[in-house]
Amino acid sequence: MDLNSDVERILWTEEQILERVSELGSQLTRDFESRAITPVLVGVATGAFIFLADLVRKIQLPMNVDFVRVESYGSGTVSNGKPKISCDLKVDVRGRHVILVEDIVDTGNTLSCVIDYLKSKGASSISVCTLLDKPARRKVHFELVGEGKYYCGFECPDYFVVGYGFDFDEQYRNLPYVGVLKPEIYES
Ligand code: 5GP
Ligand code: MG
Repeated sequence: MDLNSDVERILWTEEQILERVSELGSQLTRDFESRAITPVLVGVATGAFIFLADLVRKIQLPMNVDFVRVESYGSGTVSNGKPKISCDLKVDVRGRHVILVEDIVDTGNTLSCVIDYLKSKGASSISVCTLLDKPARRKVHFELVGEGKYYCGFECPDYFVVGYGFDFDEQYRNLPYVGVLKPEIYES
């Protein structure tokens, strides 16, 4: 079975992604190196695991890494709109600068839920670093906390994408690029 044949077109190649991740890493390094307290990078599982793994190696600072898990999507391609935190943090983020690492910001539901959660845990600032952003689909407004900043890899057109961590029905995450899934795959 060849996963590549289910992809209609590649939006960003492995090389393009790694170049952009490198730029984001340098930017984060510059922005956080002068802060007295080291940052905590919190990945949203499972989708952000590859992005987070590549990103942390491009940040030249001491840091902590942790994950939260949020359930919202099920196996379809449309969010059910009510995300829940289903797996807690291990690192204490009280008084810390949190950099929330997301695969994609779509409606904004997941992000606003995780931001509220991190706020309730006492983070002193919350920044967001997302690989992709689909601004056309935004429904929920979210606010960064403290001196938090927003970092985005690429603006994504309104297609359902897979690869580089993105799944459809828990498949395709291991493709090295981000591509558009053939609609017949999720419509069948
Ligand atoms: P939101 O809560 O912002 O609507 O959705 C965020 C989550 O929806 C993302 O973390 C991601 O898991 C999922 N999502 C949104 N768009 C896509 C897409 O094009 N492909 C995949 N695989 N997941 C998506
Ligand atoms: Mg996600």
